[in-house]
Amino acid sequence: SFFGGIGGASRKGVLVKGSNYLEALAKTEIVVFDKTGTLTKGVFNVQEIHSEGVSEEELLELTAYAESYSNHPISLSLKNAYGKEIDNGRIIDVEEIPGHGIIATVDGNKVIAGNIKLMKKMKISYFEGEVIGTIVHVAINDKYAGYIVIADELKKDSAQAIKVLKEADIKKTVMLTGDNKNIASKVAKELGIDKVYAELLPADKVEKLEELFSQKSNKGKLAFVGDGINDAPVLARADIGIAMGGLGSDAAIEAADVVIMTDEPSKISTAMKISKKTLKIAY
Ligand code: ADP
Ligand code: MG
Repeated sequence: SFFGGIGGASRKGVLVKGSNYLEALAKTEIVVFDKTGTLTKGVFNVQEIHSEGVSEEELLELTAYAESYSNHPISLSLKNAYGKEIDNGRIIDVEEIPGHGIIATVDGNKVIAGNIKLMKKMKISYFEGEVIGTIVHVAINDKYAGYIVIADELKKDSAQAIKVLKEADIKKTVMLTGDNKNIASKVAKELGIDKVYAELLPADKVEKLEELFSQKSNKGKLAFVGDGINDAPVLARADIGIAMGGLGSDAAIEAADVVIMTDEPSKISTAMKISKKTLKIAY
């Protein structure tokens, strides 16, 4: 009947990589989510551009160029907003810093594009006002050149996914994100997530997960749901690593124990229901 359970799950778009994970799913007490690409669409739209010393067009162009080698959702969005073809001959020395941003040389200019952490690291003073959204700060040749505000949307079924988990026996839902506190709290509140930790580096996410293990019972399990390359270590550390396969990275899919083959987080509770049913039949 375990095979029946795995087959049943796969027909509903959930790939379970072994009967032990099917059993673990039934005992899940804490579900931890990544934000971008997992609960949100991972597709950012440009909301505002504020440039200093260059035009808005130049700021967007240089940023899109600096970001052009990356597959990060933010990079893809900025390239998309720029809209024109990228001439690779204009870019050299690209360095991507996980959880921070990008440094690249474009037309001979050093472009630094990323969050506050990156600006601090590079000792560049930046706009400190509050906005609801994700801010990409940009410096050109070590001088602040302005910022671009981008915003992502919740996936259609994220709220439903959290609601159903709470109605089942899930004790706690948590969100971990590298994004800023304002946007993280807004998303968590809208979805009814119990606890949120923001501005985390990939390594901080593993550390937070370690802390969360102490909040479940001995026989209870902790699941982590993520989609990005940066999520592979956390996916591996959780009792059950669940990857969103729809747009997810290969690294995440490989590191995961369970793969949601569509883009719907509500499939997590579908998988848990199937696992509980299977266990009832098995014992
Ligand atoms: P998460 O997957 O939790 O959203 P990441 O670790 O991928 O977060 O990124 C965290 C933060 O680091 C982003 O919200 C952004 O501020 C910054 N960042 C990461 N990569 C880039 C990039 N390529 N360009 C600009 N900012 C970036
Ligand atoms: Mg992510």
